[in-house]
Amino acid sequence: MKNVYGMNMQKLEDYFVNIGQKKFKAIQVYEWLYDKRVSSFDDMTNIKKDVINSLKSDFTMDKLKLLTKKKGKDVCKYLFELHDGNKIEAVLMYHDYGNSLCISTQVGCNMGCTFCESGRLKKVRNLEAYEMVLQILQVEQEEKLRISHVVLMGIGEPFDNYDNVTCFVDIVNHPKGVALGARHITISTSGVIPKIKEFMNYDKQVNLAISLHAPNDELRSKLMPINRAYPLKDLMVVLKEYIKRTNRRLTFEYIMLKDVNDSEKEALELAHLLKGMNCYVNMIPYNETSHIIYKKSSKDNIMKFYDILKKNRINVTIRREFGSNVDAACGQLRSNYEEGK
Ligand code: SAH
Ligand code: SF4
Repeated sequence: MKNVYGMNMQKLEDYFVNIGQKKFKAIQVYEWLYDKRVSSFDDMTNIKKDVINSLKSDFTMDKLKLLTKKKGKDVCKYLFELHDGNKIEAVLMYHDYGNSLCISTQVGCNMGCTFCESGRLKKVRNLEAYEMVLQILQVEQEEKLRISHVVLMGIGEPFDNYDNVTCFVDIVNHPKGVALGARHITISTSGVIPKIKEFMNYDKQVNLAISLHAPNDELRSKLMPINRAYPLKDLMVVLKEYIKRTNRRLTFEYIMLKDVNDSEKEALELAHLLKGMNCYVNMIPYNETSHIIYKKSSKDNIMKFYDILKKNRINVTIRREFGSNVDAACGQLRSNYEEGK
């Protein structure tokens, strides 16, 4: 049986047409699910009994199970169990501009980036759209607040789960759904070129962030095995095309790893690589994990790197550090939980 939270408007309308009903019923169901937030089909009181019965026999409304939550100063991290026992994480961050939620898109990840905790668990399966939607709804319910921004930066590679991810975006962006503006949704990818190409034709103004982490192929291939399949030279061509076609500004994420990618040489190389592109660089202080040898760059190095980019007229920001005390780097809460910490 399908979970109703995974139905985008198109799919739900098709469903109603198929069972011989008017398609506007889909809007009514959306209002109950996402505006009134009822938890049973029986509460959908303006829908006729026979239609409710069809819904009940074709869909579940099952939720995820919240296993633990860890609260920090301006961050809260959630560990959810899925129906099959797999575990995923979401991280809520309180900003001055609103509340943003970082959600997972897969159980594990196959990309094998050497600095990343999520990648230590190989992909077990993709998340279904409903499992992404419910991370948002359940955190909102748990904290009695509204999430204004969603980033797909938890466990998993979103573009290795493209169809479910775009179905998820359809649902949360729909004005009768969660109604998050497309510009308040950010998808982060390690650089899966064929899917970036497909995404150029996706009709919503969703933000795209590219995990770059190195300005040349030699270093990037060491950090991110995906770079061997989709090297920088090809990636940059596609990204320039993406900017031209969509008129959207790209974000590049750059984790600052001590003595690995944080020298003056790399800063200059990065400035050169991105020169003239409509983009900005988000420098990320590395969140050290107990399993991985990398260390975070010193504040001093981070500032030097930042200054070089600025001087070379690259738009750049340094990400505020969140929740290193609550295992907030993606994958850390899950792996610590499994090890009984
Ligand atoms: N797979 C996608 C999205 C999930 S990872 C991607 O790689 O873009 C989201 C971001 O978190 C990526 O930029 C990733 O490089 C970064 N990240 C992974 N481990 C981290 C850590 N320990 N500290 C800081 N950022 C980390
Ligand atoms: Fe996967 Fe992203 Fe982690 Fe790389 S950084 S292993 S792509 S989750």
